[in-house]
Amino acid sequence: MSTSNTPTETEMLAANAAGVTRAASILTEGGLIAMPTETVYGLAADARNDHAVARIFEAKGRPRFNPLIVHVADAATAQRYVAWSDLADRLAQAFWPGALTLVLPLRPGSRLSPLVTADLPTLAVRVPAHPLAHELLTQFDGPLAAPSANPSGKISPTTAAHVAAGLAGRIEGILDGGACPVGVESTIVGLFEEPVLLRPGGLPQEALEHCLGAPLKVHQSGDPLIAPGQMTSHYAPGASVRLNASDVGPEELLLGFGTVDCALNLSAAGDLTEAAANLFHHLHALDAKVPKGIAVSPIPEIGLGRAINDRLRRAAAPR
Ligand code: AMP
Ligand code: MG
Repeated sequence: MSTSNTPTETEMLAANAAGVTRAASILTEGGLIAMPTETVYGLAADARNDHAVARIFEAKGRPRFNPLIVHVADAATAQRYVAWSDLADRLAQAFWPGALTLVLPLRPGSRLSPLVTADLPTLAVRVPAHPLAHELLTQFDGPLAAPSANPSGKISPTTAAHVAAGLAGRIEGILDGGACPVGVESTIVGLFEEPVLLRPGGLPQEALEHCLGAPLKVHQSGDPLIAPGQMTSHYAPGASVRLNASDVGPEELLLGFGTVDCALNLSAAGDLTEAAANLFHHLHALDAKVPKGIAVSPIPEIGLGRAINDRLRRAAAPR
């Protein structure tokens, strides 16, 4: 069973037209590219490609499917993916391109991979200011999901050498844009009933407050629900979920993994990247059949299996 990350040759791509063209074509083929932004290097994949996005989590060794920031070339493109508002427009006019990420309601029919939003009804979106990121987004001509280009739990990379030290052999390419000028992650603001600072970052809170003309509410970890459709609304199927199932009850549907007779298979080949890519799609599809319960085959607790099991455990938790 192919549960481990196959080594990949990592191309170092120069900061010129040929490098950007090569990076764009790798992304179009579903590969992973570390791209310089003004904040930190991002690990980019086509945000519409389930398999490519699953590989971001695999390459970073992330134990969870947390939502990723989608990078786009301009505010007009952002509006294809999120429900826009006057407030979004004011902040975008003031700070895009730049180190500000906006969290807004996901537009239905956006066709982004549900792995990008961790199946949330909201989307984090940003227009980076770095000229190479801008050129790459323009040539690629689509949305790029990109968390920081470092292994999970390690320091965010601000040079191509940092990226290579952490991810060489796991991604297809690194576009070398030198050192990132800002050097810390973007500031994240959620625009719900009122704007909320979700993460401090490269754009100072004071600049945002000056633009908004009011103090910004700051989200403290452990705060209850800050907006409808945020973390607690994380998708839980209507059906009950039973993990590590070796049999199927009469009113259950089996979500399989590996060679098993089942209603839907996450990966008949036992490939964890394929399983991650299918996870949210298959849960929704089985749930729509209104079974009493969804039984799930055992998934190995290694690599992407950890993130898959984390998500399934939460779907199975008492509610
Ligand atoms: P990273 O991609 O690791 O640099 O971090 C992305 C950050 O954006 C994380 O702190 C996420 O929790 C946050 N984020 C992304 N999407 C959303 C969303 N839809 N709602 C709230 N926070 C988000
Ligand atoms: Mg990070």
